[in-house]
Amino acid sequence: MRLFNFAAGPATLPLEVLEKAKSELLDWRGSGMSVMEVSHRSKAFIMLAERAESDLRELMGIPTQYKVLFLQGGATGQFTAIPQNLANSESVADYINTGAWSKKAIVEAKRFCKVNVLADEAASNHSTVPAASSLKPTPGAAYLHYTPNETIGGVEFPYVPDSGGTPLVADMSSTILSRPIDVSRFGLIYAGAQKNIGPAGLVIVIVRDDLIGKARAGTPLIWDYAAMAREGSMLNTPPTFGIYIAGLVFAWLKRQGGVTAIGERNRIKAEKLYAAIIDSSGFYSSPVAPDCRSWMNVPFTVPSPDLEKAFCAEAAKAGLTNLEGHRSVGGMRASIYNAMPVEGVETLIAFMGYFQRRYG
Ligand SMILES: *Cc1c(COP(=O)(O)O)cnc(C)c1O
Repeated sequence: MRLFNFAAGPATLPLEVLEKAKSELLDWRGSGMSVMEVSHRSKAFIMLAERAESDLRELMGIPTQYKVLFLQGGATGQFTAIPQNLANSESVADYINTGAWSKKAIVEAKRFCKVNVLADEAASNHSTVPAASSLKPTPGAAYLHYTPNETIGGVEFPYVPDSGGTPLVADMSSTILSRPIDVSRFGLIYAGAQKNIGPAGLVIVIVRDDLIGKARAGTPLIWDYAAMAREGSMLNTPPTFGIYIAGLVFAWLKRQGGVTAIGERNRIKAEKLYAAIIDSSGFYSSPVAPDCRSWMNVPFTVPSPDLEKAFCAEAAKAGLTNLEGHRSVGGMRASIYNAMPVEGVETLIAFMGYFQRRYG
């Protein structure tokens, strides 16, 4: 039996995608072998990778002057690759600190360039985002990095920062493809696949051409955007199975009506869940400021730690799994990425109602 899996990542995948992969696992398109066993240099696999890229370009409306790279090393690898490719040791890079993931990106960047933290929402315990008008990018900065959706805190920017002329760099690991965005506002977008795209082990980097080719000496070849772009992300053996599943997810998203349709569905899912949290005043509550509540990762609390344990245990028995908050923050967290059906959210809300009647 499949459960409703609210894990933050690796996360639930569309059932249709898993069934398709299952159906062709032993014999991929008449090749007599699994897609995992096929050469990445074969014509069939190159066509698969090209199709995955063109579907992603179509879904996100990626302009032609951007390269799409399929890399490894996770989003964490990009915490390193970004300053190595876009800054030198004398450069200033602006960072916005809205929580756990931006903090990690900042720590890593400090090893490679001068980091200016433009805004740090520590005063609210990272339950807010800075006001758009308060952001004053450093003139001449190499780039401005931010985390549009903080996966652990459940804090999501309701706006795209105005970086002036500075290239805007966004860690979209947990929000990519969740709604339409204007890619042309960004210099670089990156996302680990295991939240909204596919299996862990693949990271997607969308980077504007003028930012490619400036990697500092000593940058590992596999993270040098110019080298990877030149080789069509196949400088070494790419994560072939991850690219295959990502391609199936992109095709599934297109069948759902693309990011506009899925964005509308995501908005409805999030609204319903927050309504259930807020309406249960005195029992469930949200630690995040109302104007920046994430559509993808919804943290909530109950009145006591004992009730937390009971909530997660009973929910799991009801087929709703992985609702524990991140180990660093506690509480509960429901991650409701693209692949979480509306029905999963409705089942969770019904369970929350039951639990409150029983323990509230
Ligand atoms: C999950 C996540 C990461 C880390 O991804 P890895 O692939 O484990 O390196 C980084 N940033 C955000 C916003 C995430 O959600």
